[in-house]
Amino acid sequence: MKLNALWSLVLTLLSLSLLNAQQIGRCGVGIEDGMKIIEGLEENKKFLAETAFPRADKLYVPLIFNLVSKNEGEGRLDESTIFAQICRLNADYLDADMVFYVKEINYLISNGLYTNPTSSASFNTMINNKGAGVNIFVCERAQHPDEDGQGGTTLGYYSPSGDYIVCRKEEIVSANGTLTHEIGHFFDMPHTFFGWECQTVDGYTYDPAVHGNPLTITNAPCSGGGFNIPVELMDGSNCSTAADRICDTPPGYNFPFSNGFGGPCGTSQDCFDKNGDLVIPMANNVMGYFDGCSSFEFTPDQISLMRADFLSPGRAYIRSSYEPNEALVDPNVAMTGFSPADFETAENYNGVLISWNEVAGADTYFLRITDGAETFQYYTDKTEHYETNLSPGKQYFWFIIPHNETSMCHEGSGVLRFITGSGTTSTKDLISGIDAIALFPNPASIGESVNLYVEAKQIKDIKISLLTINGQTLNVKAQHQITTGENTITIPTSNISSGVYFLRISSDNETTLRKLIIE
Ligand SMILES: [Zn+2]
Repeated sequence: MKLNALWSLVLTLLSLSLLNAQQIGRCGVGIEDGMKIIEGLEENKKFLAETAFPRADKLYVPLIFNLVSKNEGEGRLDESTIFAQICRLNADYLDADMVFYVKEINYLISNGLYTNPTSSASFNTMINNKGAGVNIFVCERAQHPDEDGQGGTTLGYYSPSGDYIVCRKEEIVSANGTLTHEIGHFFDMPHTFFGWECQTVDGYTYDPAVHGNPLTITNAPCSGGGFNIPVELMDGSNCSTAADRICDTPPGYNFPFSNGFGGPCGTSQDCFDKNGDLVIPMANNVMGYFDGCSSFEFTPDQISLMRADFLSPGRAYIRSSYEPNEALVDPNVAMTGFSPADFETAENYNGVLISWNEVAGADTYFLRITDGAETFQYYTDKTEHYETNLSPGKQYFWFIIPHNETSMCHEGSGVLRFITGSGTTSTKDLISGIDAIALFPNPASIGESVNLYVEAKQIKDIKISLLTINGQTLNVKAQHQITTGENTITIPTSNISSGVYFLRISSDNETTLRKLIIE
């Protein structure tokens, strides 16, 4: 098999001068890894035949995104683009009843992995950083730097030996079907045209001058090095042993990379198999290479086999009893209630309360605030955030994406703007109608209840929030009515670790802060 891989590489190199500098996107799963996928597929076929599965069950698939950046931390994927990608992925796997959720997003700094994920050092880095889920390493590229500009760009690949997916950053940004395809490989789905990944000396896959039309060859061009891959026939007679060995996917000879047979979402010329039957590929199959189809699908057999792979003993490490939140965050419901309003000037700069209305189904909000140079981003389960890191007299851009683990199709608020004022939020300030505010004990011990003492001149509604030193809201005590005289309000502080916090007390448009130390 090693020899075969080398041969492919030599042919790729030879074909350089002959190919135009045309950039074609392809997947990096070659014939050697494809054979490992076929081995897995055969095990899954056996498993499927021997096991009675509860077919109707939804399968929850945890994803672990490993966002790779250069040594200096630059170039990392903008993680707000992951939402649209998961939206696409869950739509693509809807028929398979497989629900993907983001279990973890990790940041990895490695210039080597970022620029050359195919090196052995990068392989080790990925193995050492994997977690219990489908691991996706998002790098600048998904191919060896020497291959740049040579016969196409590798968009992504699944490594059976490393059991991880590498995806080019741009693929996630554009939320296209690359990840859908690579996750198919993860579940041991071969290319529908398996055996036709190899190139002729002229840089083609299928070439009638070499392979005939009707075809004259019995084994696909990538055969060799100890294995044969029969050319799949249109009549289905060898469907379980040829190409992808799946019978409801018709034959295809990698027409998009062929000599003149690739068209948008289908063949542009007739190709006949050895029997003289017209070959009609399933152009919109996820595991093919055709472009330009309005939608891409898996066949029922592909779905059964992918589900079997998920349920197989080898995949025990990604299964759990965990059921993610599946509430719908409706992308057609616009977000409302933004504060500050668009283009509003906030009074202060070192304490700006940003808030929005709740979105049905969302349990988390992704918030980003930036002035173009400095960026702050947060995930919060609240509908507000108190930002304390800003500078005076500056325009800031911000947006929010409401979501939960599985429902990520909402585009969010769109970009909003506010300008910071020159005022500062003083912790000495009092709210009108209130004579005194105190916290005790302060410092408090971990787990100890903290009391807020308020002396008021009048009945008043106040709202109390506990914030981290960075302004992240930890909990909100809903509207609380205080009476004339002395009031004592218990602040929930269980589950809060030691550190410095702020208690924010607000009423109407007035806000005051008190520092709270937990030891
Ligand atoms: Zn592929």
